[in-house]
Amino acid sequence: MDRDRVGALLAEWGEPAYRLTQGVQAQGAGADTWEQVSSMGKALRARLSGHEPLWTLRPVERLVSRDGTVKWRLELADGREIEMVLIAHARGRRTLCVSSQVGCALACRFCATGSMGFGRDLTTWEIVDQALLARREAEADGARLSNVVFMGMGEPMQNLDAVLAASEELHRPAPGLGLSARQIAISTSGWVPGIQRLAGYPLPLRLAISLHAADDETRGALMPVNARFPIANLMAECRRYCDATGRRVFIEYLLLDGVNDDPADARRLANHLRDGRFHVNLIEYNPTDGGFRSSRPERRERFLIALERAGIEASVRRSRGADVAAACGPRAARATA
Ligand code: SF4
Repeated sequence: MDRDRVGALLAEWGEPAYRLTQGVQAQGAGADTWEQVSSMGKALRARLSGHEPLWTLRPVERLVSRDGTVKWRLELADGREIEMVLIAHARGRRTLCVSSQVGCALACRFCATGSMGFGRDLTTWEIVDQALLARREAEADGARLSNVVFMGMGEPMQNLDAVLAASEELHRPAPGLGLSARQIAISTSGWVPGIQRLAGYPLPLRLAISLHAADDETRGALMPVNARFPIANLMAECRRYCDATGRRVFIEYLLLDGVNDDPADARRLANHLRDGRFHVNLIEYNPTDGGFRSSRPERRERFLIALERAGIEASVRRSRGADVAAACGPRAARATA
């Protein structure tokens, strides 16, 4: 629900502010339209229906993977579409991979969203509604929404006002979603001004960097943003972030066969991570039509061992939702979830 617009309407009509909360609670409880908000009188429901939808987005497709991962295609009020993915973990935990933009301007070569170009920024409420929908889905499945990661479509640091406002709402106690700040992660392709802003932001959100290569030539070929923020500058900024916040930075690294997965790449990566508090997530890639292949298991293993020998904390993140194109690479959303 666009709470700014609905709040303004309610104020204009002389309705009490708690009507807004009733609408939000009804969204969480399963209402799809104002008509289903039974805590409100009929006349007000009809009046609201004529002015604003209850949801800022509408599911147009829902695909469930064999591993329990769910992918939605969502239509926004202006007819544009985004995707979001809910990843199932053990013990009833669910992680939402949330979108922050329609499309993306940064054109990473391995990413299906990058090939779409930029559409527009999402509003705060379009981001929050993804989380409300995900929480509803999780709870209907007897699970709980435990984490939200800004790794869906778009570069969140290029829409940081809305991303931070949405994060505040995800963190706020009810009728917010009540997640701890550490359960919310912003993943960036390395947009340095956003990292600087996040370092001074009071809410201790987690930061992840999509690095994906350990030298500028390889990274530049994969991620055009590297021309603007080369690896040395980016890593220096990450170290400043670690010093300023006392928090770790997560390094996301897609393993692409024959591109960035040699043990020499692992050693170069380790050199960038010597000072600072880093954890490397090695990510299995699922091919798009960008021409890349996932690393073979033996190369992945050698890469991991080389990192560990260099004293770098690392883990391999298994691919989820590949059969519904919800995994890293093929979906139109971010390649690094
Ligand atoms: S990986 Fe992220 S930053 Fe790069 S094109 Fe895809 S959505 Fe944009």
